[in-house]
Amino acid sequence: MKLLSEYRDPELVRRLLGKIEEPLTRSWRIMEVCGGQTHNLVKYGILSLLPQAITLVHGPGCPVCVTPRRLIDQAVELAERGVVLCSYGDMLRVPGSRKSLREAKAGGADVRMLYSPLEAVRIARENPGREVVFFAVGFETTAPANGLAVAHAAREGLRNFSLLSAHVLVPPAMEALLTDPDCRIDGFLAAGHVCTVMGCEEYEALAARHRVPIVVTGFEPLDLLQGILELVILLEEGRAEAKNAYGRVVRREGNPEARALLTRIFARVDREWRGIGTIPGSGLDLRSEWKAFDARVKFALDPERSEEAGECQAGKILKGILKPPQCPLFGKECTPIAPKGAPMVSSEGACAAYFHFAGVASGAETKESAASAP
Ligand code: SF4
Repeated sequence: MKLLSEYRDPELVRRLLGKIEEPLTRSWRIMEVCGGQTHNLVKYGILSLLPQAITLVHGPGCPVCVTPRRLIDQAVELAERGVVLCSYGDMLRVPGSRKSLREAKAGGADVRMLYSPLEAVRIARENPGREVVFFAVGFETTAPANGLAVAHAAREGLRNFSLLSAHVLVPPAMEALLTDPDCRIDGFLAAGHVCTVMGCEEYEALAARHRVPIVVTGFEPLDLLQGILELVILLEEGRAEAKNAYGRVVRREGNPEARALLTRIFARVDREWRGIGTIPGSGLDLRSEWKAFDARVKFALDPERSEEAGECQAGKILKGILKPPQCPLFGKECTPIAPKGAPMVSSEGACAAYFHFAGVASGAETKESAASAP
């Protein structure tokens, strides 16, 4: 606990806030890409402590939020066809077109919540007469473990294990946001855990290509404030560079073993992002030599796109165009108990973070909730 409390020291927080204010000559709009960072920015009240000149908008870095309905529908379909359908907890609650995986489970389907894809491999080993599918969502951070599960299943000769891959990649999503005509982002805080795996080189290229500064940042309050400070300095000095402010964890080259595993198991593909649309090269699917473990191929799933329906503003929330309290359903028709969209379901979703921590649900108005639509 000592290590954590050091990164939450109130005196150091105050000092960093002062340092952030010093160089400011104008207002800046900064996006933190990662849902985990959004969660902590709201939970620790950092949004309301920052100088008025800095507006943080929240990005698409919640894998549960960006998984399209079509994939949830496919997972539900598989569960209802009798496979053992395994996934991480939040994924079970996200509504598909017809129902969520949790509702499928309530209807008798064998849906299991796991903490690791290797548990799904174990279930397959122990149940040779059943097909076991792991619904693999996540960014570059979780993809290596899912790839490892496939490698383990292959080594054991398991023929009843497969992956429904919904992996997404961060840099292509940032590229898509930067080329969106509605984009009003001056700089990015990049997710430290993703860079732990992938390193910083892609961000250096992205920063140079789009003339936008990017700072790789951690998750504790001091990490986040240090990242904001370094980004403000880059912005004020007009330097479109990528910088690593999370050096205690992230190396420029990332984790070579994990990167090699990703390259061996997965290939980049175009991927649909819920509420955003298809982003070229933004997903990972199994390479052709691993297709025996691809649930889409094995069960001949229908690749048709699903339509997003209703008043959920998830797309605008995920692009940083709107903030959760600006959605008309927020805290009324849409709550964590009865979510209308994935950002309210996921523990990393921006809507859930505001509902739980920003005092908005109880009616208390914060700087963020009072913000008008840009
Ligand atoms: S508050 Fe609910 S309906 Fe509105 S954008 Fe968030 S998840 Fe969607």
